[in-house]
Amino acid sequence: MVDLKQQYLKIKNEVDIAIHEVLDSAAFINGKPVGEFADHLAKYLGTKHVIPCANGTDALQISMMALGLEPGDEVITPSFTYVATTEVVALLRLKPVFVEVDTKTFCIDPSAIEKAITPKTKAIVPVHLYGQSAPMEEIIKIAEKYNLFIIEDNAQAIGSDYTFSNGAKKKTGTIGIIGTTSFFPSKNLGCYGDGGAIFTDDDTLANKLKMIANHGQQKRYYHEMVGCNSRLDTLQAAVLNIKLKKLDEYIDGRRKAADYYDKAFSGNAKITIPFRAAYSKHVFHQYTLILENTNRDKLNEYLATKNIPSMIYYPVPAHRQQMFATFGGSSYNLPATDWLTERVISLPMHTELDEEQLNFISSAVLEFINM
Ligand SMILES: *Cc1c(COP(=O)(O)O)cnc(C)c1O
Repeated sequence: MVDLKQQYLKIKNEVDIAIHEVLDSAAFINGKPVGEFADHLAKYLGTKHVIPCANGTDALQISMMALGLEPGDEVITPSFTYVATTEVVALLRLKPVFVEVDTKTFCIDPSAIEKAITPKTKAIVPVHLYGQSAPMEEIIKIAEKYNLFIIEDNAQAIGSDYTFSNGAKKKTGTIGIIGTTSFFPSKNLGCYGDGGAIFTDDDTLANKLKMIANHGQQKRYYHEMVGCNSRLDTLQAAVLNIKLKKLDEYIDGRRKAADYYDKAFSGNAKITIPFRAAYSKHVFHQYTLILENTNRDKLNEYLATKNIPSMIYYPVPAHRQQMFATFGGSSYNLPATDWLTERVISLPMHTELDEEQLNFISSAVLEFINM
């Protein structure tokens, strides 16, 4: 699905030097590159604070801890997402409330949010799925009306933006009170192991987020609150400093590949190509088709016989996961989510795809679909 080796080879000299600098410094924890990366990313995103942490799941957990949510408080999330978004809610003994996504954008459906609100609702977690912003303006309106926090799960959309109706633009992840991301290797901005970060413009909250990620301490060995241990390694920060400079170029590469696929598939009655919302710049973490009147799982197998990887993101939505049985998962009726789950397929999408590969992949898809 990704070609991290080829991408590495193009920046090998720079990366190898940076890694050796870290090895020579022996500052493996909280070395200089960590702070530098946080500053660079804050500037890139146009946000005041970037708090690095160990992974994108921790970023979500620390965010919910810092907002002072109490056991039993309800957090609204889409069911159609990666498990991390919903899992941390349950881990903190909060109550995940699953809602529908829009089958066009794959993102949380604002009209479904409002219906799910109760006096216990405290937060909404929109996920900018596959690389495109959720409809933030509508979500903000609801959050303001009911006094709810917005935590943006930006793990799949770093570098994407949202254009408000007054023309103002903001990077995804900097719109809600908190935004989170992951630097898992295959993400649009990936390191060479695990990593994550939290974004906020709020000084008090930033301080709290930093403390929670560091065992609840500001001053060493004086622990003011219960926290956790969640750090971005210096080695990973050194890699990210180099890759951040290339992020816009990487996004362009993904968008070009998406344009190629779009052209190849548009007009085919059985294929719906990814919708590109006018309000957002799609950064194509995934290139995901909706297939109708064709056997999606057989296509997945057929592509495998040609050594073409394809993936179902995600084969089981949150409300149907055994994990959430005790949270009333099976009582949900989310037909749009189920409909998508049965029809989506994601094709290889990364920065190193050339025309020959794109042609080979799209021809194989069409060959099967038109069989
Ligand atoms: C990858 C991802 C995460 C979790 O990131 P990790 O670094 O793997 O913990 C959370 N949410 C979404 C939507 C993701 O895609």
